[in-house]
Amino acid sequence: MPRIAIIGSGFAGMGLGIQLKQQGIDTFTIFEKADAIGGTWRANTYPGAECDIPSALYSYSFENFDWPNKWSHQPVIKDYLEHCAETYGLWAHIRLETPVTELRWVEEVGAWDVDATPEGGETTTERYDVVVSATGQLSRPRWPDIDGLDSFAGPVFHSAEWDHSVDLKGKRVASIGAGASAVQYVPQIAKDAAKVTVFQRTPNWIIPKNDRDYTEIEKSLIRRSRVARNLRRFMIFARAELLGYDLMHQKSFVRDFMQKFAVKNLQEKISDPDKVAKLTPDYPMGAKRVLFSDDFYEAIEEHDVDIVTDRIDKVTGDAIVTVSGMDQDHVEHQVDVIVVGTGFHTQDFLTPMTVTGPEGRNLNEQWQEGPQAHLGLTVSGFPNLFFMYGPNTNLGHNSIVLMIESQCRYILSALRQMAARSIQAIEVKAEVQQAYNDELSRRLADSAWVLIEDSWYLQGGKVTNNWVGRTTEYRRRTNHADLDEYHLRPKPALTKAG
Ligand SMILES: Cc1cc2nc3c(=O)[nH]c(=O)nc-3n(C[C@H](O)[C@H](O)[C@H](O)COP(=O)(O)OP(=O)(O)OC[C@H]3O[C@@H](n4cnc5c(N)ncnc54)[C@H](O)[C@@H]3O)c2cc1C
Repeated sequence: MPRIAIIGSGFAGMGLGIQLKQQGIDTFTIFEKADAIGGTWRANTYPGAECDIPSALYSYSFENFDWPNKWSHQPVIKDYLEHCAETYGLWAHIRLETPVTELRWVEEVGAWDVDATPEGGETTTERYDVVVSATGQLSRPRWPDIDGLDSFAGPVFHSAEWDHSVDLKGKRVASIGAGASAVQYVPQIAKDAAKVTVFQRTPNWIIPKNDRDYTEIEKSLIRRSRVARNLRRFMIFARAELLGYDLMHQKSFVRDFMQKFAVKNLQEKISDPDKVAKLTPDYPMGAKRVLFSDDFYEAIEEHDVDIVTDRIDKVTGDAIVTVSGMDQDHVEHQVDVIVVGTGFHTQDFLTPMTVTGPEGRNLNEQWQEGPQAHLGLTVSGFPNLFFMYGPNTNLGHNSIVLMIESQCRYILSALRQMAARSIQAIEVKAEVQQAYNDELSRRLADSAWVLIEDSWYLQGGKVTNNWVGRTTEYRRRTNHADLDEYHLRPKPALTKAG
């Protein structure tokens, strides 16, 4: 059986571990740099953290849970992942606080040497036939480059590293950033804080979530009936693929209607015309991730929440200083606590790992201009290395878990064929990867994501993160690993001793 190293214990790494076990493959290790499993849902403990795809679909297709409401909160999703680890016997395979720092291809044996270096500890090296990187697109918090931020006298922390020891009651809190996380935590902290000032670069298209608790009757039906479970999943899926998918394109049938609906909602919820103007996007809906919220606008109306759109010039010991207008007027905003909600390093798919392939080829250097892979899964020049949630596999409209399950199928299909045909290593052909990425570029030119200059989907104007089609197309194309698209290296023939 092949020895498999999986790096990361989020939905992707765990999902693959479960599928391997179900296929009777036990020879895998899940390396996790943090001290607990769950990835995104371990790290993002900020108040109000929750998913924005309903939990019934934002979960594995093979494992239901007693979801209390439609869009579960972070502690419930973390519980779900821990429940899965327990149910499917993953704990014995997981190594916590073990960051993988380097992968080196060993040509003589056709395998990878995997270095892991615990903080303050010694590097250990183990050999694996196959490596799967499942390190996530949103697992490396990004800090803004602002003069003086480190000289601020009060607490400063990132939303993905929330400091729960800081009591925000009665404090003046600044949120640098107004994106997906801020839209969730601002309503929560506004309840207690004396004042919240949101420093916003780009407003978001926000539509109501209409969240609600499931009734006991619904929960009982879901527990008992597979048909009810599948129907609930299908309804959410169909809505995302019909409405959400349409918005991801420049030509959209629903955009006009949806934008009018969102603006009407904003104008109904917020009475101050200046705030309404600041919160109204000037780009087409779909170009950035559309957000869902039942309480962001409400919090701005009901509590002392200010929206500042002027550029931040610097941070002093007790204030954030902005500049505005032709005269470059400086305004000091006195605050006690700064929350940094500026998202993640989304293009550094490898950081902080170094990947050295055959002939000393360095994947970090190869991806300097932007990461590229075949189906987001494999990279030419790097045998037996798979990516999950890799380049161009993020979605703007549906559950990432659907993509992750497709990737599991593909990797298992490749492993099965390698075992059956006695293949030591597979490496995707350069021309296959190129043709695939040419197709992506052609199709992405019609996407809504290129209608905006800056977003986390883009690197140098190129869409590096998002998948271009429907999730069903991705499922079809990854259902089976076509080994004709790969260079194959047979296993060495066994020789009789003596
Ligand atoms: C706040 C928030 C809300 C979101 N909501 C949704 C949603 O509603 N719907 C949706 O579809 N998607 C959502 N996403 C996207 C989400 O990231 C994915 O859905 C999914 O959780 C990704 O799972 P993953 O396993 O690929 O990555 P992650 O969950 O990021 O897990 C990666 C793991 O790899 C570990 N790791 C990284 N580098 C190393 C290393 N060198 N060595 C060892 N371990 C390493 C990390 O510590 C982490 O545990 C959200 C993201 C965020 C941040």
